[in-house]
Amino acid sequence: MNRIDNWFKKRKLKPIPIFIALIALIILLFIIILVANYQTDHDDKVTMKEDAELRTGPNAVYPEIYPAEKGETFKQLDKKGKWIYVSTKDGKEKGWIAGWHTDLNIEPDSNPNAKPLKNKVIVLDPGHGGGDQGASSSTHFKSLEKNYTLKTGQELKKLLEQEGAKVKMTRDKDEYVKLKDRNLSGDAFISLHNDALKSPDANGVTVYWFKKQQEGLAEALSMSIQKKAVLSPKGARQENYQVLRQSKIPAVLIELGYISNPTDEMMIRDELHRHIVEQAIVDGLRTYFSN
Ligand SMILES: [Zn+2]
Repeated sequence: MNRIDNWFKKRKLKPIPIFIALIALIILLFIIILVANYQTDHDDKVTMKEDAELRTGPNAVYPEIYPAEKGETFKQLDKKGKWIYVSTKDGKEKGWIAGWHTDLNIEPDSNPNAKPLKNKVIVLDPGHGGGDQGASSSTHFKSLEKNYTLKTGQELKKLLEQEGAKVKMTRDKDEYVKLKDRNLSGDAFISLHNDALKSPDANGVTVYWFKKQQEGLAEALSMSIQKKAVLSPKGARQENYQVLRQSKIPAVLIELGYISNPTDEMMIRDELHRHIVEQAIVDGLRTYFSN
């Protein structure tokens, strides 16, 4: 103790009473425990490095239940292969997420079919535009078809590019493009529209094809949209539309709900609902190009 007393005397300081030193030590221990806990809490934190989705099971075939955005964090609960079982921070949503979309340093599946859309050229054709407004709603929203076909096209483009696809748009702004000028080449052509009828009761999604070689794509997209069952699915039907008649590639025209039906209109206007339908189109394309 003498040496310590001398050390304090030399510096003209009062020696620290033992009990204060003890309290300081206890506080220090407490802080160390807190920090250690904080680190274990954060060890099971998973951060999204790109947009993806939570699914009901550990495989891409399971339905999507929650869209996870780049930067969003989750709590890891379990792991199966390359899939992580997570919950949202508030614990309200739980689901499986592919590990390669997260910061966990997991390699994507080496399955060549994992990216069936890679380098595929997808033509997106947002219907109408400019002076051609397309169909419109009769609610106070006065929604115009031309605006929602363009929004869907732009959102779908982003999703397809995440899958490695190359996307061509027949229009990417509010302009009028003649039907004959929408005939772009690629691996698949998707014309986007909204239906309308005088009766506000008509509702649902219809996927149209015209040539026999277009039917497979229409069925794949219709099946995929049906699985999500957001808008009531009306199946794949044959119709002699010019954009289908003139196309030399697998081409479909999708009527994404009735803008004249107030419920469909709400879904057409709602970004989250659009995202679900767009993801269904991506899934349908993945299935189509996997076969
Ligand atoms: Zn239309």
